[in-house]
Parts: sequence; C-alpha cells; structure tokens
Amino acid sequence: MQVYPDTHYAATRDDDARWPGLDGDCETETCVIGGGLAGLATALALAERKRSVVLLEANRLGWGASGRNGGFASAGYPLSMRELVARHGLSDALALWRLSAEALAIVGRRAEALGPTTRQGQGALRCRMAWQPDNLRSHVDWMNDQFGPGFVYLPPTELRDMLATDAYADAFVNPASLQIQPLNLARGMAHAAVRAGARIHEGTTVVGVKAAGAARKVVTRTGTVVARHVVLAGGAHLGMLDTRLGLATVPVASFVVTTNPAPEKLQEAIRTRFAVSDLRVATDYYRVLPDGRLLWGGRANAFAYSTEGIRARLKSDITRIYPQLSSLGIERAWSGLMPIARHRMPVIGPLAEGLWAAACFGGLGLVNTTLAGELIASAIADGDDRHRRFAPFGLPFAGGSIGRAAFQLIYWRHQIEDRLRRPRTGAKG
Ligand SMILES: Cc1cc2nc3c(=O)[nH]c(=O)nc-3n(C[C@H](O)[C@H](O)[C@H](O)COP(=O)(O)OP(=O)(O)OC[C@H]3O[C@@H](n4cnc5c(N)ncnc54)[C@H](O)[C@@H]3O)c2cc1C
Repeated sequence: MQVYPDTHYAATRDDDARWPGLDGDCETETCVIGGGLAGLATALALAERKRSVVLLEANRLGWGASGRNGGFASAGYPLSMRELVARHGLSDALALWRLSAEALAIVGRRAEALGPTTRQGQGALRCRMAWQPDNLRSHVDWMNDQFGPGFVYLPPTELRDMLATDAYADAFVNPASLQIQPLNLARGMAHAAVRAGARIHEGTTVVGVKAAGAARKVVTRTGTVVARHVVLAGGAHLGMLDTRLGLATVPVASFVVTTNPAPEKLQEAIRTRFAVSDLRVATDYYRVLPDGRLLWGGRANAFAYSTEGIRARLKSDITRIYPQLSSLGIERAWSGLMPIARHRMPVIGPLAEGLWAAACFGGLGLVNTTLAGELIASAIADGDDRHRRFAPFGLPFAGGSIGRAAFQLIYWRHQIEDRLRRPRTGAKG
C-alpha cells in the first residue's frame, strides 16, 4: 500500500482514520474497485439507497487524482459544450449539462456539510489570454441562453482590477463553481458511506475479476468478494484489469504546487477570492487558499516530471503571469494522473451485464465522479437508465503508446503556439 504523497491536501486533511484491509471471502450486491472520488461516490450513492456495497482501494482513500487535484468543481465536460452541441445536437447536450449541474449541487451539499476546511470558496474566473482572438462576451451570451449557468462577462478593465497582469484580455465569472479541498471531500464521503452501511477496505489491491455463475468474483491477495455488480473506478491506476477500458484511455499527468503563505504579497497580484483558469488546452489553474498560500496547477504531459522539475516549471509559469510574485517560495509540488478517452467524455455505464465503468473524467472529475456514482447507483437500485446518455460516446481505442505520443505532440504544438503569440512582457517560461 502506498501512503499519501506529500501534498498540501494530505498535510491539511481533517482526520487520519484508516480502513482495514480485506481479510477473507465475502459476498455483496456491488463491489467497487477504487477508492477515489468515483468509487466513493458510487459506494455512497448505493449505501444511501440501502444497497449492500464493498469498496476495495489498493492504497489510501483519495490517494490518486482525487486527492491531488486543483479543487475546482464546475459543471461541464472536458469536451466543450459547443463541441457537444455540434456533434450530438442541442437537446442531448442540454441533458448532459443538466446531469453535470445536478451533480455539482450534490457535491456542494456534501462539501458544505463537511465545513470550511472542505468547501473553501465559491466562484471561478475563466480568462482569455491576451493573444487569443474573439472576446468572451458572445460565448457567455450563448452559454447563458442555451444552458443557463449565469456566467457574468468581465471586460478588460474590470478583470485588471482583480488580476494585476497583462496576460489576459477578458474573462467571465462562473458563480456556481466551487473550491474544494478534494482529499477532505473524499474522506468525508467515505465516512458518510460507512455510516450508511458500506464496507470499505484500504490497502487491498484487486488482481483479477473472474466470472462466478451469474455473479463475478473480485480477487485480491487477502480475500475475495463475490458480487452481482462490479464497478471499475480505478482511474489511471486500474492497469489492464479490464483490457477494453485500459486500451480506451490515455493517462495524462498534470502538476500542482503550493507556495509558502504570503497573503499580503498575493493580494498585490490576485485581488479576488475566485479561482482562476484560462482558455488554453493545458490551462494554468490557481486559487488563493484560505491559509494565504497560492495553489497553482498546470501543464499536461504524457510523461511525469521529477518533483524538482515540477517546482521549476510551475514557478516559471507563476512568474510569467505575475512577475511581482517571483519571490514566492514553493512549499510543495506534486503530480497526478488523469485518464482521458479519445472522445474526451467520461465513460459511465455498463461494459457488460453487471460490469460497470466510472472512468475517464479528465481534468473535470471533481463533479462528474459524483454524477457517475449517482447514475450507476440509481441504475443498480432502481433500474434508472440515464447512464445511457453516455453510451453514444463508446469506448474507442485510444492508440496505446502511439496515443500517448500523439497527445504529447498536440500539447507541445499548443505550447509552441502559446510562446510564439505571447506578448514579450513579464518573465520568460
Ligand atoms: C493534477 C490534477 C489536477 C486536477 N484538477 C482538477 C480540478 O481542479 N477539477 C476537477 O474537476 N478535476 C480535476 N482533476 C481531475 C480529477 O482529479 C479526476 O478526474 C478525479 O479525481 C478522478 O477520480 P477517480 O476516482 O476516477 O480516480 P482516482 O482518484 O485516480 O482514484 C482511483 C483509485 O483507484 C485505486 N485503484 C486503482 N487500481 C486498483 C486496483 N486494482 N485495486 C484497488 N484499487 C485500485 C487507486 O489506488 C486510486 O486511489 C485533476 C487531476 C489531476 C491529476
């Protein structure tokens, strides 16, 4: 079992409860593999519906991407709403938007119940880089007309009052977006699931899933679980436990640092409590934490960097946008893996009778993992078929190592474009 990596979230987690490893054989209706937000959301949603469920986590709960992310919780998908409308029509896109918005409301209620150490803030700014064309006003009008999220357009002067940088042109506020301490959320959901009757085992790696009559046998080194339903929620760490799912995903690394506390210095540059990101493919995303540190995430890579490499690269990203923050010291740096499907939509639904996938949330998993949990649990408990909304995307082959290389090339192309068009102000990256 791997311990939590040295993240700000692990250092500030609300509690350090542990859940025992599986010891022996048992039966249940549903066995969930993976104790990230997707697995925990599924186990909690099943337990809330009074269904029997056992969750198996190889490491600690929230050890993967769920305990390492930026903490931005917003409705929507990695595939933009414009692309969704273009490919699937307005009515399907609207139905998908509503599902994600409902999940955001559930995440908000759960985070609120866990208190301010979990629900750390509300509201997010999405900024257009100074070199990017097309002001955001028409996008805001279109989103508000079609989906009603209540985005608020911010012209350059108002944005400049909030963010002391020339890097951005204009922006919009997403008022419903939440800022979450994701490891506290994951652990809080685990406590709630156990209170509702779920069984959770940490330090229990699933090594195989075999047919067992009408059910399946989930095999670990210390015991087995026989279940009618098995939910694959192992994120990028599931390996080839299910070959089709494995071959349909590209694991992509993203990176986060936190700085030393510097509330006054930060106030000179970032004069807002909104979280901030931009419109680039591999966006910078950052927010000032309640304890006066800056959390800054960014980049997306098919290959991980060393901790020192993350520190250096993200420090240069911070300084490029805010030269006045060049003296900030980096306290912690970490990376996480997120699996992405070729179509950039989550994979939610049955792979076979009784075998479910909750996977491929990309960089927007804080909310859609809860959506997956709700859809799968209500399908198992009540025969709800809303998960079919995700069936048209399928499980296309992601290309294996060629797919990873292709992702890297696309990312490098965007990086070069960014460098060439960036105005020659501020520090070099
Ligand atoms: C650096 C970074 C920043 C991000 N920022 C944001 C953000 O700001 N907002 C947002 O919405 N999303 C963000 N994301 C994405 C989001 O974190 C993920 O989409 C989400 O956490 C995925 O959850 P998961 O449960 O599917 O996977 P994970 O959290 O990776 O959990 C999978 C778990 O399954 C376990 N597991 C795997 N295989 C087995 C096995 N064989 N047996 C038992 N257990 C197993 C693993 O140990 C792991 O704990 C970010 C991701 C990263 C990496």
